[in-house]
Amino acid sequence: MSTALWAKIQASVGVTADGIPGNITAQAVAKRLGIDKETPRPTPSVPATIDPRSAANIATLLPYAQSKAREWLLKCLEAGINVKIITGTRSYKEQDALYAQGRTAPGRKVTNARAGYSWHNFGVAWDFVVFDANGQPQWESPLMEKCGKIAESLGHEWGGRWTSPQDTPHVTVKMGCTLADARQRVKEGKWWT
Ligand SMILES: [Zn+2]
Repeated sequence: MSTALWAKIQASVGVTADGIPGNITAQAVAKRLGIDKETPRPTPSVPATIDPRSAANIATLLPYAQSKAREWLLKCLEAGINVKIITGTRSYKEQDALYAQGRTAPGRKVTNARAGYSWHNFGVAWDFVVFDANGQPQWESPLMEKCGKIAESLGHEWGGRWTSPQDTPHVTVKMGCTLADARQRVKEGKWWT
């Protein structure tokens, strides 16, 4: 490119027209073209993904509760909480076996609910726990409460509000009926039809 042409370009962008383009000329041209500012790159958003353990437990829930569980879990993950769903539905038989524990079977008592007296038996409840960076469950973490409050914000019942006993890891999707109603509907084969 000729010196004369560079001089013309320099003059038009308001720098010394010596015909020898350097950094100053380059910057002035870039400014004129509107490319002098570094374009901020959008922060790549890492899509929150549901881990296999949670996914397997979610799959045991009623379809309606499945979508609620996914929605809740993604909200917790997006809040930066490493939480997993560790329990989903329990059959009546499984509930009775759990109830026997610490009563007629070895182990410590883990539930006061017999078969049909836990929302886990109706596919609308799950339990969760927060994990630390080393993959250790953190039952006492304040993030447990945060997850519970997220559940409440979505209209669900959080076991952290219960008193006898308090059940911080527990969430129930409200179904607008009592456990007695649910038991009756199961008996009639009409639960969630
Ligand atoms: Zn539970």
